[in-house]
Amino acid sequence: MIEIAVYDTKSYDREYLTKAPGAERVAWHFHDFRLSAKTAPAAQGTQAVCLFVNDQADRACLTILAALGVKFLALRCAGFNNVDVAAARALGIAVVRVPAYSPHAVAEHAVALLLTLNRKIHRAFNRVRELNFSLSGLVGFDLHDKTVGIVGTGKIGRIAAQIFRGFGTEVLAHDPFPTPDWAAMHGIRYVNFDTVLAESDIISLHLPLLPETRHLLNAQTLERMKPGVFIVNTSRGKLVDTGALIAALKAGHVGGVALDVYEEEEGIFFEDLSGQVLHDDELSLLLNFPNVLITAHQAFLTREALGEIARVTTANLLQFETGGTFLTGTTL
Ligand code: NAD
Repeated sequence: MIEIAVYDTKSYDREYLTKAPGAERVAWHFHDFRLSAKTAPAAQGTQAVCLFVNDQADRACLTILAALGVKFLALRCAGFNNVDVAAARALGIAVVRVPAYSPHAVAEHAVALLLTLNRKIHRAFNRVRELNFSLSGLVGFDLHDKTVGIVGTGKIGRIAAQIFRGFGTEVLAHDPFPTPDWAAMHGIRYVNFDTVLAESDIISLHLPLLPETRHLLNAQTLERMKPGVFIVNTSRGKLVDTGALIAALKAGHVGGVALDVYEEEEGIFFEDLSGQVLHDDELSLLLNFPNVLITAHQAFLTREALGEIARVTTANLLQFETGGTFLTGTTL
């Protein structure tokens, strides 16, 4: 039976992983803490490690895992900016991920965030519960006829773009690797990044965090956006320079911000910190803007996505044990 240390787990991870097909052939060692060089020794006695978005598999951590005999690293997510893949390769550790567990889950959440923020559903919900039936301050705008800029037209961005087309919006897309047939089929126009910035009423980010995309939205790019622009980020927090975003919100240049990810989310998102003092001043500020809506990296959290993550992770783990081939597209 293969032994695996699973880091940063919550009840839903444990539930779905242990009921995946073949899960009974795996000895799961669940940890609620995150993976780092400090916590890597907890993988002692296992051959495999499973991690999530805020675990840190840097060279130091991987060196410890390799010394313990770990040979297989399974990310139960799509993004892999938190893993030094080159170091893993050099240390003889195979790395797999779940490239597409449910792009619908994330795209639908991006749209849900935008609708909630624009139509102020979160504020209305609280008001009505207090028997305050006043509509003052709840004015939104029609999405119909607005221009939506989609940055990154991979699996998630394409679905988000199609949903936005369903609202009767014009969709501008930007991606260094465009898919022109798909765009033509859905009446979507590929443009350069500057045009997305200059012409979009709403900008939704669906690109990976890479060294060259860090702080893609910064003081200069925010300034080039239309006054009143709404920004949606369900991709990675570090795509946005939080300080510059706060300045643009204070100046009134940015009309609304919906975030499922935050630059410094590690150690905050996924945790219940209610009743504690929040030590992140920028997050505290963001939470105080009436036109900012934040969810704590939950875009992936659907039954379908959790089931698929568990299925792919377990299948790859069993392939690793028997020396078989990993599922197509999952190897890094
Ligand atoms: P994908 O690999 O299918 O698509 C990413 C696209 O971004 C690609 O087409 C790529 O060419 C494009 N891209 C790369 N650099 C770019 C740039 N500078 N400008 C514009 N486009 C660029 O990935 P995906 O499955 O669509 O996921 C997108 C991102 O969503 C992931 O990288 C991950 O960070 C994030 N994500 C978040 C959650 C969540 O729960 N919030 C869940 C899954 C994925």
